[in-house]
Amino acid sequence: MAQHIYDYAIIGSGLTGLSIAAALSRETSNIALLDGADFAGGVNKQINFPTGPINNGLRFVPDSVLSEKAMKFMENLLATKIVADVSEEAPITYEAGGFKTFLGFGENPPAFYEELNYFTSSKRIDLAVEPHQWIQMLMQKFTGDFLPRSYVTKFHQEGDKVTSITINGSKTLHAHNFIFAGTVKDLALLLPEDAISVRARSKLGKNTYWTALCLDICHSKAVTESTAMHVLNGTTQDEIGPCAGQFMPAVEVEGQTLQASQWITFIESEVMDDSEVVGLTLKKIKRQIKRAYPEALDDVKLERIFVSPIIAGNGDIKLSANMTIPSLENLWIASSTVNEQKNLVGALLQAEMTVASLGFKVEDVEIPETVSAEETAAPSFEEASL
Ligand SMILES: Cc1cc2nc3c(=O)[nH]c(=O)nc-3n(C[C@H](O)[C@H](O)[C@H](O)COP(=O)(O)OP(=O)(O)OC[C@H]3O[C@@H](n4cnc5c(N)ncnc54)[C@H](O)[C@@H]3O)c2cc1C
Repeated sequence: MAQHIYDYAIIGSGLTGLSIAAALSRETSNIALLDGADFAGGVNKQINFPTGPINNGLRFVPDSVLSEKAMKFMENLLATKIVADVSEEAPITYEAGGFKTFLGFGENPPAFYEELNYFTSSKRIDLAVEPHQWIQMLMQKFTGDFLPRSYVTKFHQEGDKVTSITINGSKTLHAHNFIFAGTVKDLALLLPEDAISVRARSKLGKNTYWTALCLDICHSKAVTESTAMHVLNGTTQDEIGPCAGQFMPAVEVEGQTLQASQWITFIESEVMDDSEVVGLTLKKIKRQIKRAYPEALDDVKLERIFVSPIIAGNGDIKLSANMTIPSLENLWIASSTVNEQKNLVGALLQAEMTVASLGFKVEDVEIPETVSAEETAAPSFEEASL
């Protein structure tokens, strides 16, 4: 039997890969979307918390021209209004026994300054549809083959093109075009021998990459009405550095008032498996929450910890203007961290740019301003049956 050749093989079904997959689905359904995990969406999955469904860790979108462009791309893809509003509220910190406006990291910025600084913008985009819901809606727009539990372990090159990939070390999949939306660091192992220089490969492996450490807490009482971003560090300088976090509105569940809060800090990817580093970092986050809200951690109903895969660090990989590897004209690098913008914004702009490099455009669509939250809400994770 003749082997099947996909038009596009997209490696990684996180927000970036899935956005590209949904956009390309308008042109063809001969697409393979591969993921090493057994579900689509990467880090943006829905978490069922006692207070209701939440994102897998804090999600905050600072407002800027580029953030709005990124959100517009998603709105056009989903034909749904996802931005509710743009609001302004200064971040706060806790100092000398009281809350104050957070004015910056001063003379001792943390090593992950750029990563954390993203969360300190006063102007923010308020979302009508949360990132975990985008994933479900994008999945419904995708018309190709989703291949879960398919970890890509090698790209194979003939001349200046990639012709196939190896999946889970044994299976082979062929395509005309390959789009990589995984972690750039992994390209050090995945790229064929002659695709990049030994020096570039070694640099990719050795660069500094950051992972997010998230703590989600369900408090068994209302802690605060503040919706401001909190940046907490304490008074002693240490290598752990500050964390950022936010409280969600308190809710009544079966006669009990519950409030969720979500906190984030960063650790170098090299130590993400070091339980001592993770433990000390979590301890510090909790110490800072307790310092600011002495009773917040009494009788906590639930807490969850999430150490993410790499979410920052671009490996300094050199790409052509159209986002391909210079020596491989049909391998597009869509990894969100190669974008100059960070996080969700970087992921969506990188997806949009990759779709454009492939010769397509997600056109502006008219979206009624009056769509209510219920109308825009995606089906639950179970209903979407991913
Ligand atoms: C805890 C946490 C909190 C965050 N908070 C915010 C926030 O407040 N604001 C904000 O803007 N952004 C935030 N972000 C960042 C934002 O969520 C990410 O930038 C964005 O979702 C990245 O999407 P992605 O598709 O690039 O990566 P991912 O979601 O990591 O997806 C990559 C996918 O590729 C798959 N994959 C990788 N390599 C391979 C391979 N070789 N073969 C097959 N599959 C592979 C992985 O399994 C994964 O599913 C946060 C991230 C985390 C983790």
